[in-house]
Parts: sequence; C-alpha cells; structure tokens
Amino acid sequence: MSHHWPEFDVKESGLHLAVDRLRSKKPAPAPTVALPAALPQEGLGEEAALDTLAPIVLDGARDLGAPGFFAHMDPPTPWITWAVSQWTASRNQNLLHPDTAPTARQLEETVVAWFAPYYDMSGGHMTPGSTLANITALWAAREAGATSVVAGVDAHLSVRKAAHLLGMTFRAVDWKEPGDVTGAAAVITAGVTSTGEIEPLDAAEGALWRHVDAAWSGPLRLSDRYAGLLEGVERADSVCMSAHKWLFQPKESALIFFADVERAHRSVSVDAPYLAVPNVGILGSHGAVAAPLAATVLAYGRTGISAWIDHTMGLAETLHDLIETHPELEVRSRPQSGVVNWRHRSVPTRSLHQGLTEDVFVSMTTIDGEPWLRSVAANPNADPELVVEGVLASAARVR
Ligand SMILES: *Cc1c(COP(=O)(O)O)cnc(C)c1O
Repeated sequence: MSHHWPEFDVKESGLHLAVDRLRSKKPAPAPTVALPAALPQEGLGEEAALDTLAPIVLDGARDLGAPGFFAHMDPPTPWITWAVSQWTASRNQNLLHPDTAPTARQLEETVVAWFAPYYDMSGGHMTPGSTLANITALWAAREAGATSVVAGVDAHLSVRKAAHLLGMTFRAVDWKEPGDVTGAAAVITAGVTSTGEIEPLDAAEGALWRHVDAAWSGPLRLSDRYAGLLEGVERADSVCMSAHKWLFQPKESALIFFADVERAHRSVSVDAPYLAVPNVGILGSHGAVAAPLAATVLAYGRTGISAWIDHTMGLAETLHDLIETHPELEVRSRPQSGVVNWRHRSVPTRSLHQGLTEDVFVSMTTIDGEPWLRSVAANPNADPELVVEGVLASAARVR
C-alpha cells in the first residue's frame, strides 16, 4: 500500500561522507553509561556522553517516518538535511555578522530568492518558525501604520500573541462578515492548523496590510497539481511558511516574505555601533538554517519536493475515502490541504485516542467544542490502511 521513500532513511555511505567531511577524530568504542540523575559536575567524556544521550535523543524519539504515523505537522526529514545540519553546526556561522558568515548570508539570500517568486514576493528572510514570522510580519504592518490585527477565528495562536506583543488590538472574525478592516493588519490563514482549511485569499480587501499565514500549506505553491489552491496569495503584503512542516526540514526553519522587502526590512531593522550592517528582524545571532533547505532543493529540486507533497496529499485523500466508506467511522470533510478530521461513530474520541498502540499515531483537535482525531499528511511513508486498522483496533479494545 505505502510507497517507500528512501530519502527519509539513513544512507550509510552518504552519512559517512558527510561525517568524514567534518574531519572529526574517530572515537574509540566506549562503555555504555546509564543516564545520571542529574547532569554531572565532572564531564563523562565525549563517547560516554554520546552513549548516554543516544537512547534519549535517538531511540526515545517518535519515528515520524513510520508507516503508522499520520498525526502532526512534523515531517520526517531527508537524510541530506541531517548531514548539512552537522556541517552548519561545525562552522557555526552567525548571520548577524557578515564577516563571520560570508557565505551563509549569501546562501540564505539565494534560498529566499528561489522561493519568493512562487508567492510573487520580492524577498524576505528566514526565521526559526512561523510564530516568529507572524510576529515579524505584523511588526512590519504596524510600522506601515496598522493599529489593529484582524484574523479569522481559527487563526494560529501566534497571531494573537503577536498582537499582544506589538500593542495592537486583536479581533477574530468570520471572513464572510469581517466588518471594517480599514487601518488593520489582516491575517488570512492558508491551512488552518486544526482542519487544513484554506481561508479565502481575497479576504480583507481594503485592509492596510494583508498577511497570509501559510505556515502549513505554503509549500503547495511548489506543487504541480495543487499550486492553484493558493491562487491569490500573490496579492498579499507578506506571506510566511514553516519549512520544518511541509518542506521536510529539521527544526527550526521558516520563511517570511514581503511584497516590498526593502521597505519592510527597513522598518524592522535596528542598528548598533558593533554591527557592520543593521540587524534585520527579531533574531540577534542566528545560524545557517538555509543550508539544509538549500541542500534539499539542490538534491531533489522543485519536482522532487512536489512529488512528496503530491504523494502526501494523495494519502490524505485515500485516508478520507477509507473513513468515508467505513460504516463505523465518520470524516468531517474532504481534506483541503492534507488534514483529515475524523472519529468513530460510537466510541468517544478521547478514549479512542488513548487506546492507540505504539505503532499507530494520530493527533487530536477540538472543532466547535468537539474532539476529533486529526491526521496531517506530513509523512510520505504513511500507510492510511494501517492507520485506519489501528484506530478500529483501539475502538474494539475500548468498547
Ligand atoms: C504551525 C503554525 C504556525 C506556527 O508555526 P511554527 O513554525 O510552529 O512557529 C502558525 N500558523 C499556522 C497556521 C500553523 O499551522
């Protein structure tokens, strides 16, 4: 049933190559050490530290690329991103200072310049997530004169957080009847976190600033089949997207784009005597997070990324159809951007969720006050049949 994507597996030869390039000394085998109750005063040595941490950091983590994982917006990551993340950790360039990051700054510009045209934006920068991207966008909107934030009722909590931090009033609206939006920064969500709904991208015409929060669904713009779902995004003043969601990047990787990047960047820049160039955006020191993303685009291209996205969209469709045709199960609606909300007709959703075994993982959300299972199509290796079987098995146990 599920197609296997080897990019998400370890590739020994590739990893060896990458690790060799770090020119590390080959450590000798060390005895396995139990986890200390507290971190020690005296160091254990590198090998013992790795032995101690491996079960926690590696074995203790959920396998986001397992066939039964159809849950959150967190994707498995292609092995090449692991390799390049090691490289960036080893060089530790700081994009705050052009002299310590002569190439990393350029690489980020190249990556941003590659993505921005898909949204008809003139540029932007990377942030550690769309939470910070939303704050950055609304900061630029406030500098442009906006005094309030208007967002759909299902907007991400970071929008409310941003309004609070920036001292702007916040109003949640139904985009069918948004009321007066003049003087406001409007936030339209492309891919609501709980349901995947893409809000109308022509909403809030007449707002002082229109920001599209495409944290989840932004990568659809790269898709051969689904780019049209984001038609209208190009008329926004700013757009954000989390690369650590549907672009299969390790955390913490996201992008903020602006229609008029020079003006926006000027408005969110602060200078200081020790800086060679003004500090743009919220972060101070920050790293070469563009490198793993550049590697992904270089290795697989738009077409490769689109193949993953199109495949996962298909998995959500398949999951939807399996649920819809099953007499005991109920699906809320056809998935718009790869998010399926579903439940059992007679077993309470919370018990159903608690009854799941280790090999099947779906998430939960609340919609209009009612709990729903939530399956997000972030895992190209997911097997919809296995997930449905797992939920039905839980129902049989719980009942
Ligand atoms: C995930 C999400 C965010 C926040 O993004 P992070 O990368 O987790 O900071 C913002 N908006 C929407 C719609 C999201 O789904």
